[in-house]
Amino acid sequence: MERAILLDRDGTILVERHYLADPAGVELLPGAAEGLRRLATLGPLVVVTNQSGLARGYFDRAALDAIHAEMRRRLAAEGVELAAIEVCPHRPDEGCECRKPRPGLALRAAARLGFDPARAVVIGDKACDVGLGRAIGATTILVRTGYGAREEAAGTCRPHLVADDLREAAELALAWDRASASAALPSIGPDAPGEVPA
Ligand SMILES: [Mg+2]
Ligand SMILES: [Zn+2]
Repeated sequence: MERAILLDRDGTILVERHYLADPAGVELLPGAAEGLRRLATLGPLVVVTNQSGLARGYFDRAALDAIHAEMRRRLAAEGVELAAIEVCPHRPDEGCECRKPRPGLALRAAARLGFDPARAVVIGDKACDVGLGRAIGATTILVRTGYGAREEAAGTCRPHLVADDLREAAELALAWDRASASAALPSIGPDAPGEVPA
């Protein structure tokens, strides 16, 4: 089965802006498109993003849609297609089930797209991204872009892997996937010479 790749948006794919509210502020991080192209060979790319600026009234749904359309346009120009973008619009004090590190966004995407959350790879720049990944039993990668280097230095979370950016995260994820695939193959004993595992 494919591994879905669950990606944070701000500080992971896009340059971190404080409450990005304008499509003009959409800027891909260096290496993001290349990393995403490689990650897409593992499975669908799903963005999971906390956007409490909606509940706080800093921007409305139309502005968010415009930002996401611009992000998709820039990625498409680099040969990258996103399978879904899942958004938590709530404030932290609303106690919703979808604000990361809670697993709601990932579980919603899994139900829609039909992937196994425990086989997913979750990539982000904050402890809440790693927390989401841990909550669903996924493999977690902290990227040092955005807040990631600070989170790593402060020891706020325990990711499985740490990468400088999405380009390196893709290398690590592909190597991890190859290693786990070969580990899952049955060993061929001397009783079955030449037998190829199905
Ligand atoms: Mg982030
Ligand atoms: Zn929410």
